Amino acid sequence: MDYDVVIAGGGVAGSTAARFLAESGFKTLFVERHKTPRNKPCSGIQFGYFEKILGVKIPRERLCNIELKKIKMYLPDGSSFGSHFKMFNFMRKPFDDWLNIIAQDAGAEFIDECVCQSVEEKDGYNKVTLVKTKEKETVNLTAKYVIDASGLRPKLRNQIRPQDFSSDFQGATLNYYIDGEADLDPETLYQFWNMDWNNAMFAWIYIKTLDDGKDYWVVGTGYNNDDITKRQELFYTAMKEKFNITGEIVKREGYKTSMNMYSKDRVWLGQNRILMVGDAAGLVDMVRGVGMDAAALSGRLAAKAIMKAEKKNSEVLKVYSKFMKRVTSQTIRNQQREINIFKTNEELHTYMKKSMVKMGIKMILQSNLNKIRSPEKQVLLPQ
Ligand SMILES: Cc1cc2nc3c(=O)[nH]c(=O)nc-3n(C[C@H](O)[C@H](O)[C@H](O)COP(=O)(O)OP(=O)(O)OC[C@H]3O[C@@H](n4cnc5c(N)ncnc54)[C@H](O)[C@@H]3O)c2cc1C
Repeated sequence: MDYDVVIAGGGVAGSTAARFLAESGFKTLFVERHKTPRNKPCSGIQFGYFEKILGVKIPRERLCNIELKKIKMYLPDGSSFGSHFKMFNFMRKPFDDWLNIIAQDAGAEFIDECVCQSVEEKDGYNKVTLVKTKEKETVNLTAKYVIDASGLRPKLRNQIRPQDFSSDFQGATLNYYIDGEADLDPETLYQFWNMDWNNAMFAWIYIKTLDDGKDYWVVGTGYNNDDITKRQELFYTAMKEKFNITGEIVKREGYKTSMNMYSKDRVWLGQNRILMVGDAAGLVDMVRGVGMDAAALSGRLAAKAIMKAEKKNSEVLKVYSKFMKRVTSQTIRNQQREINIFKTNEELHTYMKKSMVKMGIKMILQSNLNKIRSPEKQVLLPQ
């Protein structure tokens, strides 16, 4: 056998799994299709317990200049309410690069510009085909376990379960980075709940640091099954007027998924010795508005499941599914509560007005309880 574990994807889930496996002495290879450090369209916001799941402290230099300390939510009728809540604020390029580095420091092998092309299950092992894109070289190797951590367009899951994907894109997001001024508080994450702007969750504004070390306002949204640029322009125009946003758009950043986000089978953890983690497992949660915590936790738990399966000679998928029960149940439950169940902004407004106070109390309570829970038993927030 060439490797104990081969991992497709060098994002949050892949690097976390690679680090925990390598630390426990497993011969681990993780590959990333892009040249690293790579950009990744993401708001890069997480909560305190994220560091606990990662099991390491995030170095200050990997975070944006400005720390987010408050959340302000705007309801469809324009009314708003805010609260104090500290969050991590980072760009995925420096952050994921750091995760890649600490996984390699732990002993995992890493190849960038390398696509994990396919997997073939054999008797007791997996045959993995990689394509090194720079060298234009195809490499075949064997691994006892394979982890698909390749995000929302997961290559291996698509090969095994093409029925979970569509030929046209199912959802898209778009961010504008603005070099300018706004009548907004830089320490606040702004969420705008309005189905004309985003029919999957909220549209957003916050501040981010780009590679030049300067801070930029980010205005962005997502939309399923419609022209994302049209929705983003609608939102941006309204925000420019409301908050006197001035300045030039210096960067546009988009993301599209072909995974069917509404399918009842979206959450899928794999088969036999091929495990899905993070977005590849369908764990991104539109109700919570985040996915990196689920990605890191699933990466960590997939590694733990492999360790346990090896020790006890048990079925790895069964062990992994058991460890993941809380996360998968929460994600499936939330999938049924996504805002597309509402037909109008009025319906969404009534629901939010009713549930917001309860959600806020739960958030404070559960984040305090997370401080005493073990890393692997963290409750993902908001609930
Ligand atoms: C616009 C937007 C904003 C978001 N904001 C937040 C937020 O604020 N907070 C939060 O927690 N979550 C947020 N999310 C969700 C978050 O980005 C994902 O849940 C998270 O990145 C999932 O991590 P992952 O490791 O599973 O996948 P990814 O981070 O997508 O990593 C997968 C990696 O695999 C690589 N890859 C793909 N195919 C292959 C292949 N065949 N071979 C090798 N490598 C491959 C990709 O290049 C990529 O680097 C946001 C998502 C979007 C789209």
